[in-house]
Amino acid sequence: MSELAQLSERAIMAAAASHALRSRERLSVSQWADAHRVLTSKQSGETGRWRTNRNPMLREIMDSLSVHSPVREVVVMKSSQVGVTEASVNWLGYIIDHAHYPVMVLMPTLEARDTWKIQKLNPLLTDTVCIRDILGGIRSRDATMSKEVIDFPGGILFLAGGNSPNSYAQKSVRFLMMDDLDRFPIEIGEEGDPVELARSRVKAFPRHKLLFASTPTIRGASLIEREYLAGDQRHYHVACPHCGERQILKWANVKTNLLLNEAWYVCEHNGCVIEEHHKNGMLLGGIWIPDVPEKTRRSYHISAIYAPIGLGPSWLDLMHHFKRVYKEPVQLKTFINSDLGEPWEDQTDKLRPHDIARRAGEYSLGTIPPGCLALTAGVDTQDKWLAITLLGWGANNRHWIIDWVEIQGDTTSPEVWNELEAYLHKPITNSYGQQMKIRAAAIDSRGHRTEQVKNFVMRTSHRIPIYSAQGHTARMGRAIAQTGSYPGKTSSGKTLKHGYCVWNIGTEYCKDFIFANLAADTDRQPEERVFNFPQGLADEYYDGLLSEVYDPEKKRYIPRVGARYKRNEPLDTAVYAWAVGQHRDINLGRGRTGRPDPKYWERLAVLLEPVGIEPRVNPEPVPVIENGEASVVGGRIKLGQSKRFGK
Ligand SMILES: [Zn+2]
Repeated sequence: MSELAQLSERAIMAAAASHALRSRERLSVSQWADAHRVLTSKQSGETGRWRTNRNPMLREIMDSLSVHSPVREVVVMKSSQVGVTEASVNWLGYIIDHAHYPVMVLMPTLEARDTWKIQKLNPLLTDTVCIRDILGGIRSRDATMSKEVIDFPGGILFLAGGNSPNSYAQKSVRFLMMDDLDRFPIEIGEEGDPVELARSRVKAFPRHKLLFASTPTIRGASLIEREYLAGDQRHYHVACPHCGERQILKWANVKTNLLLNEAWYVCEHNGCVIEEHHKNGMLLGGIWIPDVPEKTRRSYHISAIYAPIGLGPSWLDLMHHFKRVYKEPVQLKTFINSDLGEPWEDQTDKLRPHDIARRAGEYSLGTIPPGCLALTAGVDTQDKWLAITLLGWGANNRHWIIDWVEIQGDTTSPEVWNELEAYLHKPITNSYGQQMKIRAAAIDSRGHRTEQVKNFVMRTSHRIPIYSAQGHTARMGRAIAQTGSYPGKTSSGKTLKHGYCVWNIGTEYCKDFIFANLAADTDRQPEERVFNFPQGLADEYYDGLLSEVYDPEKKRYIPRVGARYKRNEPLDTAVYAWAVGQHRDINLGRGRTGRPDPKYWERLAVLLEPVGIEPRVNPEPVPVIENGEASVVGGRIKLGQSKRFGK
């Protein structure tokens, strides 16, 4: 080869290398995913090669995570099942293959991290060929085994959980992703705000990237909403296939005829009927447009209304889901958060005692109205009195406050407890003349009377289940724990099978249910209300019931401001009474399996509300206190020093 030819060949090679380098630099995350990513049945309904065109909304989101993009922070407030998690896994594949820098994935808990690793990350490590090759045979196996660290040439991937701050305290990375942001603890260790903590991990790299993704929770309390609003708030605008006008897809414009099992979309501009089969084409032509273009941080909103056909719920699926839950605020919240990707508007701060008091129905304190088929009691322990709420249960999630009683007296003395025992065991006659027993009771064992509560619960004279209970400080996903805590032990340390134990109550969960329904009852017909109140409850009762309000910042219920809200026993005892009905051995409204049993209340109604008997309802308040102390109340209970907290 001549010298000239050698030179030119070298030049060509150099040019090619520099071109390769340049194109390598310019590779975007979506290009990488289209070239390399393979989906398996483990993580996706659709298997085979990743195609960004299949879910085109994700293209801009992924590409703003590319190394050459000037975007530093990407926030995605989303519904579940819209592919954002897969897009974030594509980013990790891109980083391992292409952008060799340290990267961290932060999940809300170590458990969430482990699940995500197995379901989402491991398929990338084993089934996407170039990643498997990079990690090499044995290393790839190690990588799927290791929970915390994955080494790759030029970089390292840390996997951490928000409940374990030590696992990432000192790490510095260029790329960081936080999934499920709203499930993180509000304060992480001493570092505080999870978002600030993430920012501090990447600050050593000026050209860092942060990805925050989550379904939102409660408006004002949601971290992802806060970050979304701090960004430029992009929505995906799609063109109507008929008139061509661009618009954001909104839930209010999804229409349905459930009889015909059809759902469609009505064009906002000209009322054109858009059928679901138009959707994929509309998505391909869609563009992200910021609401607040002057903000530099990127933030995106995605709702499941945009889910590509076959990759998420259809409009009809969403309608079916909505129709199932729209009357139930707790489930409706899940729909708004997880399907529409929007924060839930909490209503509790708008509740007022006199508005609830006005709902008092056509039955009196201490009497059982038609429809009420079971009773539970919640008891609060103070130094000088016991407070009791008797809660009624019936079909369709309906509840009645049946009684509200204070037994006054020194709670270190047995007399007060004897009265409580008498009260809890006395049957009450319902409006059909049938006797009803209280099904179960829960007594607050925190406070100053732990020993007395234990002694009372362990009395052998009880003929109904009575549980010692305590509010659990951490948020629980249920009303009452499935197993007891602090169980009694034998002298040799063996757990006693039928010994004393304390049942944790998911107080936040219970209060969500109570307050959400008190709020939703405002718009319900009286016969549909979830919480019903008798004639004759004192104003103080309603003040106490509303003694707390949800604090979006603290993410929990806090005392309402004002002296009238000082007494919180009406709320606490309602929580205990509602929770104990869901104890695993009580399970009101449910079958043996613990699942809702539609025949449960029908069977009870046959016994307690016999056909042919006219119910006798007493609309007049029952006299409560006579001669200042001993009282005969409604002719059914006699309690020495006790009084109803009545008018
Ligand atoms: Zn149109």
